[in-house]
Amino acid sequence: MKIRNKLTWLFTAIIAALLLVFALVIYFSFSENREEEYYSLLRHTAITKANLLLDAKLPPSALQLIYHNSDNTLFQEEVAIYDTAFHLLYHDAVEIDKVKETRSMIDAIVNKKEIKFYQGAVQVVGFLYHHNNSNYVITAAANDQYGYAKLRNLKYTLALSFFVSIIIIFLAGRFIANKALQPVTSMVDNVKEITATNLDLRLNEGNGKDEMAELAVTFNEMLNRLERSFDAQKEFVSNISHELRTPLTAMMAELQLTVSNERTNDEYKNSIHHAISDAQKLVKLSNGLLDLAKASYDQTEINFKELRLDEVLLDARNDVIHDQNSYKVNIVFEKEIENDDFISVMGNEYLLKVAFMNLIENGCKFSEEHESTVAITYLNNTTILRFHDNGIGIDEKELPNIFTSFYRGENKQYVSGNGIGLSLTQKIIKLHNAEISVVSTVNEGTTFTVILPHV
Ligand code: ADP
Repeated sequence: MKIRNKLTWLFTAIIAALLLVFALVIYFSFSENREEEYYSLLRHTAITKANLLLDAKLPPSALQLIYHNSDNTLFQEEVAIYDTAFHLLYHDAVEIDKVKETRSMIDAIVNKKEIKFYQGAVQVVGFLYHHNNSNYVITAAANDQYGYAKLRNLKYTLALSFFVSIIIIFLAGRFIANKALQPVTSMVDNVKEITATNLDLRLNEGNGKDEMAELAVTFNEMLNRLERSFDAQKEFVSNISHELRTPLTAMMAELQLTVSNERTNDEYKNSIHHAISDAQKLVKLSNGLLDLAKASYDQTEINFKELRLDEVLLDARNDVIHDQNSYKVNIVFEKEIENDDFISVMGNEYLLKVAFMNLIENGCKFSEEHESTVAITYLNNTTILRFHDNGIGIDEKELPNIFTSFYRGENKQYVSGNGIGLSLTQKIIKLHNAEISVVSTVNEGTTFTVILPHV
């Protein structure tokens, strides 16, 4: 069921329930009022007749004549007067006799002073009447024809107004729901127009204040993020093709030039060395890209286990030195490790090693002595690793960009690389709910600080 219909039915049902309660309260309170009023009318009529009979000494036949000559005898209040010993003193019409008084009824009236009850549709009141030092038992009975007619009328009026109101409320509900959901409808139309090719389209944010505007703003923010990531991916792909093309072109040019003429053995060797170096660059790039893809996974897809960071660092150091034996890597503990937990983290061993290798390699790569030092320390909840080098440093204005994929700083002229090392490292660090920051001074050195939550 559409929200529009749900809202309409809900609105109608709530108002209908309220109206129904309202109508029932009116009906029953009117009905109770009618009953009470009619009992008191019966009582007054009976007292008036008793007074006419007992005070004004009007002959009973005169009263009976009046009773018989009324235009609607059937619904006239019929009065009977007894003494307390059940002797009939007066009766409006014995032949009609709406209520058959009995000894026990008279006794009940004497005892209780007043009784009220229904006999079929006829309302009966019986009461003890004190007059001139004597007690009389008076009964009065009649059918409240007008009262019931009014009650019926009220019932029909209430029922009719109830149904008419429900129809009006339903239509009003539909109108309100349509009006309230109209921005959603136009939002849906707008969203349908947005595809991968026109991600620059945005939703109308309306007055910018209500919930719909909030939804549109949130949606637009999501589109901004999507557009940025689409653009980043496009750029990423074009960067990759550029990065792949450069060593490939160099390799091909070199090899073509070599085979174009007869060469000496040394020249062939030289050329093959260049080709190997270019091929190594390609292998490094494709490994980096593969790692980047792995690190971009959902955290839940990656295998995490408890690791000792010093062991991972040692592994990373060995691998770096194995690739470049001129590199020097020092690992120092700034504090004594009293408990293994202080330097143990939940992490993915392979990815952390890749991240540490990148930081160590950069330190060695960008320093004249090809030396990098990793200092390990810890606080209450975190383990801190500082990767320091005394190298050429990074210009302050470049610092915000160094974690961007394929970004290479001004100092790239000194060493080779592909610009994905730090962006990969940052991704891995984030995957481990850790932080990475950098401080650098040109010609003095650089320190990358990684803060990981320990177990
Ligand atoms: P690459 O090292 O392949 O160029 P990275 O992503 O690892 O790519 O680093 C990006 C840039 O950050 C580098 O080109 C360099 O300019 C700068 N950089 C990173 N680490 C250091 C460092 N230890 N010393 C100086 N510059 C660095």
